[in-house]
Amino acid sequence: MRIHPETFTTGDLVRASGIYSVTHPAHRLFAEAALFRGEAFPKCALCSARVIFNVIREFPGLDFMENLSLRIPLYELPVLEDEPAIIPAA
Ligand SMILES: [Zn+2]
Repeated sequence: MRIHPETFTTGDLVRASGIYSVTHPAHRLFAEAALFRGEAFPKCALCSARVIFNVIREFPGLDFMENLSLRIPLYELPVLEDEPAIIPAA
């Protein structure tokens, strides 16, 4: 599979805070994820297959929020099941 240069995958360093689209054919994950600069792109909670991320929108202003210690880094992407998922308020 050809990977576009602006495509990122699990373990890559997030270089720009923003909203990223999530592509992971193996499991149904959230379609989008908000990620912060300096974090690593998260893995699927259920498997080690690669998760693909593409920038939808960069939010440079989010970089300042890291200093507030309100942000919990996202290490895993929860798999969406039939039961309702709890989405943290932004
Ligand atoms: Zn998976």
